[in-house]
Amino acid sequence: MLKGKTALVTGSTSGIGLGIARSLAGQGCNIMLNGLGDPAKIEAVRSELEAEFGIRAGFHGADMTRPDEIAALVKTSTVNFGGIDILVNNAGVQHTSPIEAFPPERWATIIAINLSSSFYTIHHAIPYMRQSGWGRIINIASVHGLVASANKAAYVSAKHGLVGLTKVVALETAGSGITSNAICPGWTRTELIEPQIIARAQALGVDIEAGGRDLLAEKQPSKQFVSIEQLGQLAIFLCSPAADQITGTAIPIDGGWTAQ
Ligand code: NAD
Repeated sequence: MLKGKTALVTGSTSGIGLGIARSLAGQGCNIMLNGLGDPAKIEAVRSELEAEFGIRAGFHGADMTRPDEIAALVKTSTVNFGGIDILVNNAGVQHTSPIEAFPPERWATIIAINLSSSFYTIHHAIPYMRQSGWGRIINIASVHGLVASANKAAYVSAKHGLVGLTKVVALETAGSGITSNAICPGWTRTELIEPQIIARAQALGVDIEAGGRDLLAEKQPSKQFVSIEQLGQLAIFLCSPAADQITGTAIPIDGGWTAQ
């Protein structure tokens, strides 16, 4: 179905982004990876994708706080693969702190990576999608794009902003063959939430697994983590013809978190 299409996935050197890149590669997409990390490990991930799925994979290390580097990332994707069909805005970071102690530089970084970077990638990628008359923009927001939690001022603000951006882009592209949607995961076991699990375990004086269970029990009624594979399958669905009329949505995949 997606054979030969090109997907740019930001923040795809680990976690959810890498999982979505793998899922799309499994459908025959060429993949442009992006993210931080050890160059040798990233090269291993890139070449593994090519070998496992028989697709072409590239990597660009753009820092998502830097508009000039984001422009270069999009440009390189189009030069390498002839365009961008699927854009997954996934790069994200977290910092938790009460607002009066929240370091202003952490606020600026989180807004830059979790929100502004998606404006820049979309801004640069849309002309290529319009040219081909087909495109999929998938923004990895969060349950925190729909509801708030204490101590996450920057993250919640950025993710609510990302849901808003998703809707504006949907309206501006409606009827053009391009769709714009946000995926809103609940707790998913990745490096991003590990510090929160450790902090919870330490506060309760329990082991890491019990810390994770306690985090889940507080917010996620299913008491089960969302899996990276489930997020990948949802991204594939949003790229399918069945989803041609799904645009401007923010889809929770959260074990019931936002139903409460
Ligand atoms: P992760 O830490 O495994 O992945 C984050 C990715 O972003 C990594 O590839 C990292 O290299 C990249 N990144 C960070 N700073 C960057 C920068 N300046 N420039 C380029 N890349 C950068 O975490 P994850 O949980 O896989 O997070 C992926 C997305 O999913 C994030 O947007 C996060 O907010 C969202 N999310 C995660 C959860 C969860 O429970 N894990 C829940 C809801 C939403």
